[in-house]
Amino acid sequence: MTPCWEVFVRITDVTTIKLKYDMPVAMADAVHYMPDRPTLLVQVHTDEGIVGLGEAAVYGGYLESIEAVVLGELRQTILNEDPFRVERLWSMMASRVHQRGRGGMLMMGISGIDIALWDIIGHATRTPLYRLLGGYRDTLDAYASAGFYAADKDARALAEEVGTYASQGFKVVKIKVGRNPELMTNMLHDMVRPEYAAVCLEEDIERVRLAREAIGGKVGLAVDANNAWTPSVALKFMREVESFDIRWLEEPVPTYDIEGSALVAHQLDTPVAGYETETGLPGFRELITRRAVDIVQPDVIWTGGITESRKVAAFAQAYGMPVIPHVFSSAVSSIANMHFIASLPNAGLLEFDQNPNPLRTELFEEHIAPSSDGTVGLPVRPGLGVTLNQATVDRYRIDRHTP
Ligand SMILES: [Mg+2]
Repeated sequence: MTPCWEVFVRITDVTTIKLKYDMPVAMADAVHYMPDRPTLLVQVHTDEGIVGLGEAAVYGGYLESIEAVVLGELRQTILNEDPFRVERLWSMMASRVHQRGRGGMLMMGISGIDIALWDIIGHATRTPLYRLLGGYRDTLDAYASAGFYAADKDARALAEEVGTYASQGFKVVKIKVGRNPELMTNMLHDMVRPEYAAVCLEEDIERVRLAREAIGGKVGLAVDANNAWTPSVALKFMREVESFDIRWLEEPVPTYDIEGSALVAHQLDTPVAGYETETGLPGFRELITRRAVDIVQPDVIWTGGITESRKVAAFAQAYGMPVIPHVFSSAVSSIANMHFIASLPNAGLLEFDQNPNPLRTELFEEHIAPSSDGTVGLPVRPGLGVTLNQATVDRYRIDRHTP
C-alpha cells in the first residue's frame, strides 16, 4: 500500500551508550544493595540527521543484558522504518519476541527505543514532546526521593537528611522502609549484601517518626517498602505510623501478590502506590481493575516507553486513579518522564532522586532541577529538549559492566 503522505525520515541505525557512576557510599532500599548507578542510553539515528535519545532501564541488572535486547532483538525490527509510526513499531517489537515474554528486560529495551522515537518526532515537528502529547501543564511539582539505608546512617542521620529537603522547598519527601531481616518472607534474604544497613521493624517505625519530626507537619511524607512485606506486616506497620500522616505507602508486598496488595489497599485509609516493578499495560490492568493500588506508578524507561505508559495512565484515569511515575535513573529518565507527566490530566508530581549522581545532574548541557518552590519547568525546545554533555558522557562511559 502506498501511503498518501511522503515519508521524509527513516531509521538508519540504533546505538547504545553504557555509563556508570560508582557511589561514594553504597545505598540500599528494602531489598536492593546499590554500590553504583549503571545507565543505558539508546540513540536512534535517521537519514535526516536527527538522532533520537532514550534510556532503557537496567535496574538491578547488567548493562550488557539490556543492551543485547536493544541491539540484538529490537534494532533489526525498526531499521529503514518511519519513526512517526511509533505505535506500529512498538507493536512489531513486542510481537516478534512474544515467545520470550512481554515484560521485564524486553520492556526495558522497548522503552529505550520508544522514547528515542518520540524524541525524533518532536525534533522533526519542532515541538516539545509534552506539547506533542497534549501539553496538560508546563510545570511539575517535584518530590524528594531519598531516605535510603547506608552504612553508619542511623535514624538521626536520616532525619537530618530529610529535614534539608523540607528547607529546600520540597512539599513531599519519600523515605525507604522494609530492610527488615527478621521477616522470614522478605526477599532481602535472597539478595546481595542482605546484612548491609539492615534494621528491625521497630527501628523503621522510629525512622518514620523522626523523619516526620524533621520535616514538620506541612510537608507530605511517603514511605516505600520495595516489595519487602507481607500484607499483615504492612498493615501492622501502617497502624504504628498512622499518627505521622503518611501520604502514600509504596510497593508494600511483592508485585505478583496482587490479592495481597488489594487487601492492604482496601484496609488502609493511606493510599497504596505501585508497582514500578510491573511492566506493560496488561500487568497494570490487573493492579488497577482489582484496585490493588490507589496510585499508579509506571516509568517510561521501564514500563514500555511513552507509548505504553500513556495507555497505563489512560486506564488509570478511567478508574479515577492518579499517576505518580517511578523516576530513578539518569537525567534522560527524568526528562522523558517529565514530558510524560506534563502531558497527562491525572499526573503532576515528579519523583526527584536526591542521592548523588552526576549522570542525573551533569548529563545535559541544560540544568534541570527544582526551583526554591519545589517546581520544575518543562523545556521549550523540540523533542526531549536536551543536549548530552559530551564531557560527562566521556567521563562515565564504560565498555563493560562487570560484577
Ligand atoms: Mg519505589
